[in-house]
Amino acid sequence: MEEFDGSELPARRAEFLGIIAGMGGEGTTGAIAREAGVTPSTATKTLSVLADGGYIEQIPYRGVRLTPMGERYARFLVRRHRVLSLALSRFGLSPEEACREAKNLESHVSRELVDRICASLGHPMQSVCGPIEHDCLCCPLRS
Ligand SMILES: [Zn+2]
Ligand SMILES: [Zn+2]
Repeated sequence: MEEFDGSELPARRAEFLGIIAGMGGEGTTGAIAREAGVTPSTATKTLSVLADGGYIEQIPYRGVRLTPMGERYARFLVRRHRVLSLALSRFGLSPEEACREAKNLESHVSRELVDRICASLGHPMQSVCGPIEHDCLCCPLRS
């Protein structure tokens, strides 16, 4: 069941999903806009695109919340970031540098590539910026 490959969401929209996930899966438009550093009207537009894509749903008077697909996507985004920053740290970058460079690169990295990098690193459990979660697509022998 592979429903996304990582190219669906451009960096800005992916960042929004990450912000909502960081708020525990739901938040108001105002709070999300502040966190993203955009105006509420810009946030409203981005959120309605995410809602159209099925990643979030509107909750009346309370803002938005991640759908189950949105949650899976947000978990993938975290995994992509951490696998990438770990890989970059193997090239001699400090944890801070690896984390920063990963943020610049990650929106161009497909799920397939993340899985290949993860496998080539031996499915590590820990990155330079947090634990790495694996799924059955990445680690069929482990799950
Ligand atoms: Zn990081
Ligand atoms: Zn893995």
